[in-house]
Amino acid sequence: MTNHSRIPLAGVIGSPIAHSRSPVLHNHWLERYGLSGHYIPMDIAQTDLEEVLEMLPKMGFVGLNVTLPHKESVLKLADIVTDRAALIGAANTLIFRADGKIHADNTDGYGFMANLRQYAPDWDPKSGPAMVFGAGGAARAILAALIDAGVPEIRVTNRTRPRAEALRNDFGAKITVVDWVQSPHQLWDAATVVNTTSLGMTGKPPFTLSLAELNPKALVTDLVYTPLQTEFLTAAAALGCRTVDGLGMLLHQAAPGFERWFGQRPDVDDEARNKVMGI
Ligand code: NAP
Repeated sequence: MTNHSRIPLAGVIGSPIAHSRSPVLHNHWLERYGLSGHYIPMDIAQTDLEEVLEMLPKMGFVGLNVTLPHKESVLKLADIVTDRAALIGAANTLIFRADGKIHADNTDGYGFMANLRQYAPDWDPKSGPAMVFGAGGAARAILAALIDAGVPEIRVTNRTRPRAEALRNDFGAKITVVDWVQSPHQLWDAATVVNTTSLGMTGKPPFTLSLAELNPKALVTDLVYTPLQTEFLTAAAALGCRTVDGLGMLLHQAAPGFERWFGQRPDVDDEARNKVMGI
């Protein structure tokens, strides 16, 4: 039986994990609210995952964040999987319940929406089609969130077209698959434009599709947050679009887990942003 009167421990599991900014964020919040608890990065091999999930609750862990390559595998090991985690096919937040059950959730879509609501409060997701670049793991969370928010049509475009088609099969009739090279011509009436590819991230190739036909009324956001101001966002801003960077999504997706583990809803504000950016 897990003893939840001990100092609560939480952490993030992945491999590699050294790059993760989650420990800085959670430990900042612990210190800021004067809470007892610790948050630890753990490099866990795929082959050890099951054993680790069995052991950690016994050691005083109350939950975990989960990153690559474990986001899908943890679903099979959890006792309770939320509907949104099941739809996305991945979890990023685990709660080790006092009754010994593992609860798996995905808060990426929540983080995405909370970021847009914070930095673009006038944005109306229902006002027109969305264009989503990319069809990887993150795109699945974004599609679930956009559909939930009432976006009337979502155009998905991906270098590898079958991955976009798989999303249409999973997410239904609101999804239209657009050819990667044709996608620049489908931006003129988009109300929401999202880059979920890794293009533009430090160390990755640049985003080279043209944004020249972008609707100037569109809200444009990038999941990439290193650098904070990507060329994708710079190009959109130059055309008069409102832009929101991806760091807020990272911060907001962390908040529900922190609240469940440590009992305090944390503020997502400039102080937290600056901590994570190392400023
Ligand atoms: P993923 O599953 O590996 O998917 C990567 C996506 O990028 C795929 O659509 C892939 O297309 C595309 N891509 C990669 N290289 C490309 C290239 N050279 N040309 C065209 N497309 C290319 O990764 P993910 O988990 O979805 O993450 C995607 C990005 O979102 C990463 O930069 C990640 O850091 C960021 N992210 C940010 C947050 C946040 O909180 N802000 C949360 C989650 C993820 P193919 O299918 O053709 O390979």
